[in-house]
Amino acid sequence: MRKNDQYQNQQAGIYFHIPFCVKKCPYCDFYSTTNLALQKAFLKALMREMRMLCDFSFLFDTIYIGGGTPSVLLAEDIGKIIETIRQVFKISADVEITMEVNPGAVDQERFAGYKSAGVNRINIGAQSFQETNLAFLGRIHSEKDINPAVKWARKAGFDNMGLDLIYGIPGQTRQSWLLDLQKAVDLKPEHLSCYMLTYEPGTPMDKDRQEAGFCPLSDNLVGDMFELTVEFLSANNYVQYEISNFALIKSDKRADKRVNMSRHNRKYWLSAPYIGFGPAAHSFVEPVRYWNTRSVTKYIKDVNGGRLSIEGKEVLSREQQMIEAISLGLRMTDGIKTDVFDKKFDVSFKKIFATTIAYLEEDGLISVAENRCSLTRKGMLFADSITSMLI
Ligand code: SF4
Repeated sequence: MRKNDQYQNQQAGIYFHIPFCVKKCPYCDFYSTTNLALQKAFLKALMREMRMLCDFSFLFDTIYIGGGTPSVLLAEDIGKIIETIRQVFKISADVEITMEVNPGAVDQERFAGYKSAGVNRINIGAQSFQETNLAFLGRIHSEKDINPAVKWARKAGFDNMGLDLIYGIPGQTRQSWLLDLQKAVDLKPEHLSCYMLTYEPGTPMDKDRQEAGFCPLSDNLVGDMFELTVEFLSANNYVQYEISNFALIKSDKRADKRVNMSRHNRKYWLSAPYIGFGPAAHSFVEPVRYWNTRSVTKYIKDVNGGRLSIEGKEVLSREQQMIEAISLGLRMTDGIKTDVFDKKFDVSFKKIFATTIAYLEEDGLISVAENRCSLTRKGMLFADSITSMLI
């Protein structure tokens, strides 16, 4: 995966995993530590890791600073990360640089600093506008922190902003979810991600659920909320382009709907190349995927010792690549481009899956057009089971 002319100027993404959080949320299984004292050593190792991988010849057109909680870092630290990446790699002139921000770990000055550092897209983890939901999710912020965060971001000049919301929270109703959606839309973000609450194995929330500490919402109600989300957001000019992701179509009706989509996240669904830095970060250059160690202390030790801190690596077989193309393609409303699939794998998608497709079409779960195969709205509710029928 080192320098190779076959990648010369091929577009790719960069992901930074900032592994710090003020407090761990009980539902989250992303790697992070609350030991903020390690920040300085981590940043030093991160700069070194970038230089160790300096011979990638891609043209990077997206940079995503995620985590963890990147907004625990000072603007000058974010500035150093962006400056180093620009020194080490070839960066596209119109690069999208996204940073995730926690409304409970940011202030007006930091937003202005992040903007001057070069961040041009901000993603705010609002999650809910209701205190009971935020308390259940164990978030550090209050509903009252969200509007000021949005205001400060706009004031700092961010004209590309995303908000994250979570639904399916115990105690939530259709009406209370609708209220969250309304409050989010009132803030006019360019992008909305609406994630269904999932109980990830090994998280404190999953343990609590198994011990009957609370009663999860029924699948039917969560399914209703999903349909409500798509209908409500579509009525408010947000186009769904992935199961959980919606982009605002501006009233000037700009021809390119993609303008407000997350260019970076689309790379994941399209199996495009990306390189990850920081503990637990994944990298993918088809057919190779590798991932860094899930320990910031080991990461620092490895990198300081002159070694990349890689924990695992896999080389996808042709069959595995086909499986990924199907499972990721079906997440997008555009679906699988069957002509591209056929060319890439030298098969006929429609012939291989003719029987399953006919059955799913009859049930209104899948839609097949000339060169596309995509899930219907009803099908999106059963995305995982439909994918497993096709692989
Ligand atoms: S702040 Fe974000 S990354 Fe940190 S524990 Fe909570 S959900 Fe996970």
